Amino acid sequence: MKGIDSSLYDVVCVSPRNHMDFTPLLASTCVGTLEFRSVAEPIEWIQPAISREPGSYFCLANCTSIDTQNHVVHCQTVTDGVDSLDPWNFEVSYDKLVIASRAQASTLEIKGVKEHANLREVHHAQEIRRKLLLNLMLSDVPGITEEEKSRLLHYVVVGGSPAGVEFSGELSDFIIRDVHQRYAHVKDYIHVTLIEASEILSSFDDRLRRYATKQLTKSGVRLVRGIVKDVQPQKIILNDGTDVPYGLLVWSTVVGPSSFVKSLELPKAPGGRLVAERQGKYLANLLNRIGKAGGGHANDAKEMDLGEPFLYKHLGSMATIGRYKALVDLRKSKVNLL
Ligand SMILES: Cc1cc2nc3c(=O)[nH]c(=O)nc-3n(C[C@H](O)[C@H](O)[C@H](O)COP(=O)(O)OP(=O)(O)OC[C@H]3O[C@@H](n4cnc5c(N)ncnc54)[C@H](O)[C@@H]3O)c2cc1C
Repeated sequence: MKGIDSSLYDVVCVSPRNHMDFTPLLASTCVGTLEFRSVAEPIEWIQPAISREPGSYFCLANCTSIDTQNHVVHCQTVTDGVDSLDPWNFEVSYDKLVIASRAQASTLEIKGVKEHANLREVHHAQEIRRKLLLNLMLSDVPGITEEEKSRLLHYVVVGGSPAGVEFSGELSDFIIRDVHQRYAHVKDYIHVTLIEASEILSSFDDRLRRYATKQLTKSGVRLVRGIVKDVQPQKIILNDGTDVPYGLLVWSTVVGPSSFVKSLELPKAPGGRLVAERQGKYLANLLNRIGKAGGGHANDAKEMDLGEPFLYKHLGSMATIGRYKALVDLRKSKVNLL
């Protein structure tokens, strides 16, 4: 959206979120290293035309379906938190349509994941921060049992993806720096466990993986190999029957296409995805080129040479692991970062 030339196009953005979250820094906001506003950028800063130009605008809504024959997007407003309003449906006509509605964290169809373990948006990070602090406070109140204290202060991360490892690293830094100083009464109860079915950071080089394992262990993160079978409000259950009580749970396993993307009868890339990283910039340039050549209206670019198709080029992977340490893997062949 940022790169679209608004002198060529009216830009209409339909999204249930009026800002962009800079997800690589979300974990830092959970523990207070960064403030929430530092990782969220309002849509109108990204594309000023949507709040300035008469034909361009932003709609706080979900796109529910697309009529590609008639060039119409069907939408439903987001009215969560507004008691007096029921959501309503509306339509937006388009000449050119870009679908960038993201992949969705796969819950692997495990019950309870959606309800208890998200970290994808700023409001999830806010909820995690609230819970972290609440649990710390509650665990120091007279009358609490030892068992309950250990549960409240057991932070569990499921999935050894870069995001899962980074979050574990942030939590262990928080424990070492903040909890040991400011909540010294409970410092011996607080623990981070990272549960992974096979190996953490599986897309990274073997030596980097071993280094990360060593560093995380040194920082007090317990690495557990296991497969989660069930997520309940206060404990998870592993495949081998082990109960793992938790006070905070964050899920960070594979991502897959959302139910909205799955429902679209459009050609899809392997894995069911519609867009890839950095494809946005490529699309903006292409649309601007088409617009300048007079193909901006619906069906006007059918005969145009669109040039080379988008090709994903892997530039490397990076993951922080806490204590100001990070891994960088610059091999060029990996495709799955997170
Ligand atoms: C904790 C965490 C850390 C990460 N760290 C990194 C990292 O370090 N490096 C990296 O490369 N990647 C990282 N990622 C992954 C990265 O965030 C995603 O790959 C990236 O955000 C995908 O961009 P996108 O534009 O496809 O989707 P998004 O940025 O998610 O944007 C999709 C937008 O579509 C909206 N939307 C969804 N459904 C609908 C609908 N039906 N109708 C209308 N709008 C809809 C959403 O509300 C959202 O605003 C991380 C992800 C997480 C969760």
